[in-house]
Amino acid sequence: MKILLIKPPLNPKLISTKRYEPLGLEYIAAAVSEYEVDIFDMRIEKNLMKKLRTFRPDVVGATAYTCNVNTVKRILKEVKLYDNNIKTVIGGHHATFVPQDFAEPFIDTIFIGYADQTFKDYIDIIANGGDIKSVNNVGFVENGGRGIFFTEQRPVNVDLDSLPMPARNLTQKYRYHNSYKKKVALLMSSRGCPFRCTFCACWKLMKGKYVTRNVESIIDELKSLPESVGIICFSDDNTIQDIKRAWKLSEMIKKHNIKKKFVMYARADTIVKHPDLLKSLKEAGFDSLTVGFESYKEEGLKKLNKRTSVEINNEAIRILKKLDIHIHAQFIVDPEFSLENFEELFQYVWDKCLFSPVFAVLTPLPGTELFKETSQHLAIKDYDFYDFAHSVLPTKLERDEFYKQLAALYKKSYSFQRFFHYKKIRSQKSLQSLENSPDFYAFNTDGMTFFKLVLVHIFTIFQFLKFKNAYKSEPVVQE
Ligand code: SF4
Repeated sequence: MKILLIKPPLNPKLISTKRYEPLGLEYIAAAVSEYEVDIFDMRIEKNLMKKLRTFRPDVVGATAYTCNVNTVKRILKEVKLYDNNIKTVIGGHHATFVPQDFAEPFIDTIFIGYADQTFKDYIDIIANGGDIKSVNNVGFVENGGRGIFFTEQRPVNVDLDSLPMPARNLTQKYRYHNSYKKKVALLMSSRGCPFRCTFCACWKLMKGKYVTRNVESIIDELKSLPESVGIICFSDDNTIQDIKRAWKLSEMIKKHNIKKKFVMYARADTIVKHPDLLKSLKEAGFDSLTVGFESYKEEGLKKLNKRTSVEINNEAIRILKKLDIHIHAQFIVDPEFSLENFEELFQYVWDKCLFSPVFAVLTPLPGTELFKETSQHLAIKDYDFYDFAHSVLPTKLERDEFYKQLAALYKKSYSFQRFFHYKKIRSQKSLQSLENSPDFYAFNTDGMTFFKLVLVHIFTIFQFLKFKNAYKSEPVVQE
C-alpha cells in the first residue's frame, strides 16, 4: 500500500510566502508508517505527474485551508484523471466545516476533524479488508459527487502523548530548499483553546476542548531535533493556557540545557497574570511571542469576544518590553474601518513601539461564529480570496480606499523614519529614565535592526504593490 500526502501550493494571492514544514501531514504520515508513505510539498515541487508516475500511489491525500480549496480540487482532479483507481481523500480545516464543498466525482473520502486515528483505520481497512463504513468521522462521496454518506461522528478524544512523533524524515529533502525555513521546526504541544473568539475556528475544530502533551514528551521531541534546527515555533492555538505545564516546560528546558530559540502564541491576559512565568520562559529561550491584541479599542475586542481589554493589552506590551521579549503583534482590520480608525490603529502601533505588527483583515472563515453572522452578506465568495489580505466582507470605505489605507498602515509601521525616531530617543535617554515616560516602549524595537528593516523592504516590495492593487482583481458579488 502506497500513500502520497500532498501539501498544496501557496495560494498565489497570499502576501506571506513563509514555508514551514507541513507538520499536520507529518503526523498523518507517522500514523500510517507501516505502509509506504511519502509527502509531496507542492509549495516547492511542481511536477505532480512525475511524482505519480514514479511513486505509483494507491491513495492520495491532501489537506486544505479555505484559501486552498480551489487549488486542492484541481490537484485531486488531476490525480483521478491520471488513474481512476487511486483513492483520493481530503482533510483539514475546510473539509471539517464544509465537507459539502468536496462532494466531487474525483474525491472519494472526506475526513472530518483531526484524522490521526481515523486515517489509520481507513488505510488499514483498504489494505486488509473490513467494513470501510465502520471508520468514524468521515464522509464518503457518493453518486458521482451528488451526495455524501457520513459515518458516525464521534467526539475527539485524542491522547496527544500517544501520538507517534511526526515523520520529519519525509520532509528532510525540502529542508535545504532556499525558500524553506531550514533552521525552524514546528512543534505541536497542545490542541484547541478554551476561549471562544468569534473569528477563530481553532476552538471549533476541537469542539471547545483544550488538550495538552506532557512536558516530558515535548522535551524528548526537542532533543530529537537536529543541531541545525535553532528555532522552534510552537504551532499550538494557545501554548501557555495551562500555567503549571508552562512553568514545568521552562524549567525542564533549562534543566536539560536545550539551547534553542522558541516562538509561541500567548494571550495578553495570560502575560499580565503571570509575568514571572514569562521571565522564566525568556530565560529558557522564549524570546519572541506572537500576541493577538486584535484591536486597539474596547468596542473592537468586545465585538470579537476576545475577553481581554485595552488596559490588559497595554500592560502585556509593557511586561514584554521590560523583559525584552520580542512581540509579533497581531491586529485585525475590520472592513467597517473608517479613515479615522486606520489612523488610530497606526497611532497605537506607534505609541507602543510595536515593530513587527501584522494586520489581518477580518475574515469570516467557514466554521466560525463570525461566518454564521455574516454569511448572508459576503462581498466575495471565491475561496481564493479568504487569505486575510482581502476583505471578503463589504467595506465601509470604497474598496480602493480601504486597500490604500491598509497598505499605508504597513508602510508607516515599517518605515525607516519610525526606526530612527526611536533610535534617537534611546540615544538621548537611559532605560531607567524612560521607565515612567511614554517613551518607555522605545527602548525595544522587537528585535528589528536596521539591517532587518532593509531586508523587509527589499523582500516585500512586490508583494506590497500586489497588496495595494488587490481590489482591482476582486470578484465582488455585492456591496
Ligand atoms: S483567537 Fe486565540 S484565544 Fe481566541 S479562541 Fe482562537 S486560539 Fe483561542
